[in-house]
Amino acid sequence: MTLRGRLTTAFLVVVLGPVLLGSIFVAMTVATVSRDRAAERLDHAATTVRTSMAATCRQLQAAADTVATVPAASRQDVVGRLIARGLATDIRIAGTAPRPDAGNIGGWPDCASPTGGSMDVIAARAVTGDLTITAAQTIDDGFLARLEAAAGTDVAITAPEQPEGNAPGQPEGKQPSGERRRLTPQPGQPLALTLTLPPHRPIFLYAVLPAVVLAAALAAVLVARWLAHSTTRPLGELAWAADRVADGDLDTRVPIPHPDELGRLAATFNRMTRELQAYVQALTASRDQLRGHLAILGETLSSTHDLHRILQVILRTALAATGARAGLVLLIDRPSGQLVAQCGVGLAGRWDVPEAELPQQRLPIGEGVLGAVAASGEPRRGQGELAASEPPCLTYVAVPICAPGVPEEPGDPAPFPETLGVLALYDRVGGDTFDDSDLSTLRTFAGQAGVAVHNVRLHEEAQRLSLTDPLTGLWNYRYLRESLRREVERASRFGRMLAVLVLDLDHFKDVNDTYGHAAGDAVLGEFARRIRVGLREVDVAFRQGGEEFVVLLPETDAYGGAIVAERLGAAVRAQPVAIDGVQVPISVSVGVAVFPEHGENSLQVLAAADRALYAAKNAGRDTYRLAEPADVTKSGVSPGDHDGDFDATTAVPSGPRPPQRRRGR
Ligand code: GH3
Ligand code: MG
Ligand code: MG
Repeated sequence: MTLRGRLTTAFLVVVLGPVLLGSIFVAMTVATVSRDRAAERLDHAATTVRTSMAATCRQLQAAADTVATVPAASRQDVVGRLIARGLATDIRIAGTAPRPDAGNIGGWPDCASPTGGSMDVIAARAVTGDLTITAAQTIDDGFLARLEAAAGTDVAITAPEQPEGNAPGQPEGKQPSGERRRLTPQPGQPLALTLTLPPHRPIFLYAVLPAVVLAAALAAVLVARWLAHSTTRPLGELAWAADRVADGDLDTRVPIPHPDELGRLAATFNRMTRELQAYVQALTASRDQLRGHLAILGETLSSTHDLHRILQVILRTALAATGARAGLVLLIDRPSGQLVAQCGVGLAGRWDVPEAELPQQRLPIGEGVLGAVAASGEPRRGQGELAASEPPCLTYVAVPICAPGVPEEPGDPAPFPETLGVLALYDRVGGDTFDDSDLSTLRTFAGQAGVAVHNVRLHEEAQRLSLTDPLTGLWNYRYLRESLRREVERASRFGRMLAVLVLDLDHFKDVNDTYGHAAGDAVLGEFARRIRVGLREVDVAFRQGGEEFVVLLPETDAYGGAIVAERLGAAVRAQPVAIDGVQVPISVSVGVAVFPEHGENSLQVLAAADRALYAAKNAGRDTYRLAEPADVTKSGVSPGDHDGDFDATTAVPSGPRPPQRRRGR
């Protein structure tokens, strides 16, 4: 059953119930009142009839007495006049002695002592001497009509032998309707009479009242339908609007017809929908913004190994996602045991410095909130003052940046992730403290940062490995090409000199032959170590291949180069290499060339140094030689190679040697 149906039923019960009850009550009351009134009217009619009959009897008695008292001679005359005046319908004068059936004068009921008999005459009697004078009154229709007029009821004579309730002259079996009263004969009223109220039909009660009730019921039904309709229509509109909102149409509004409860409900619904719409729009905008940041983040992560840029994008995305005012990324510098700032946004105090100077801002691991996060690997969030060395803020959240824990072997448990740094956000816009969802969002970004730092470091390590020689730890031939070209360019741009040393162990084949290849490797390692310790920080050593090495000495002239060659030769010569308790004496020959003195480009300088090495070998080894001034024809480089590139075809370490160096060895 619908709400409208229920409301209609409820209204009908509420409205029709009292109407029906009221009408039943009215009908019962009217019935009772009319019964009481009928009884009252019959009482009154009975009294009136008795009084009238008594008056008639007294009149008859007076007529009889009058005739009895007048002289005999004038009796007939008096009788005539009395009858003429209507005081009796008949007056008879008879013998003296009353008959034994006294009380029933010749069959007429006697007013004084009625004993039944004819019911169409009543009589009264007077006795004078031997005469009995009887005055009679015929009970005809006119008499009864007068009685009826006086009593206001139907008056009928009831024969004594007739059963009660049947009036004379009525068809058998037809009962008079309405109330009636039976009057028994008594002195002064000698007739048996029945008084009947004319049948009173309460037309209003039985016809008008049901009509009124019916009309009221009809009106009640119509009003109930209208009420139910007007109550449920706004609800229907609300349900329709709620349906549309549920389908995503947040522009839906419902009309507010009246400022009643339903009107308030509609207004509240409209306000709710409006706010929902604004909320969804804000969410959509922030989602789009975050999506944009995430797109930039994804692109950055996949397209660059620039760690600083990656961390910057992660920080900005985290700020956008959480609505924080400021943020900071720090990475742990293990050797110094400090956190080093990498990038920051919106920082204050001593942290408000240009991006380039940010790495100078450091914080010992363990100090303050940031240091504690770095030390424990546990995130922290809260509000209030931090340590003086930390960025000033009202609220903060800081999470560790951890390296992804990758098991060494598939199936191994993941190792405890190493903490690489800290990602911190400050002062959420709006003043609220950072909540659990902010913390979990930030952990996600810290996870990205951890992967990025880890990847960049892996990449750096891979790059380092690809450019270093695993046996000696020195830079390899690949890196030599790049470094030599870069150093020559730099020296050329700044008008500086660059010394290039080419070193070759003497009779190294013999070492291998005598002590074995492994011993030869150990000698190479020790030789490389001695080169490293004998150099300045700006000098760079390379293993060109085999037992040949190259050293670049920036801002060094031929004289400086010769000193270094001499020093390295002495360092090698000074101490034999101990291998399995056996002292292996070694020596090295060195060729020295200087840019731009001995070559215009990296190729020419290296070739000149090579030739100088050749000269040193020829000079008996364990010595150095300075290159001759540049001679392009001797370098073996074609004119097209004069761009300064160090070409692999001229100096591949494992490939065929340049002919001029092989010659004579
Ligand atoms: P020289 O004084 O003329 O330079 O004589 P050398 O024996 O050093 O010259 P040569 O170039 O003929 O010999 C180089 C040897 O170095 C040949 C090879 O066995 C050895 N060698 C090259 N690379 C390695 C290496 O990685 N490990 C070892 N153990 N030996 C190597
Ligand atoms: Mg050699
Ligand atoms: Mg050699």
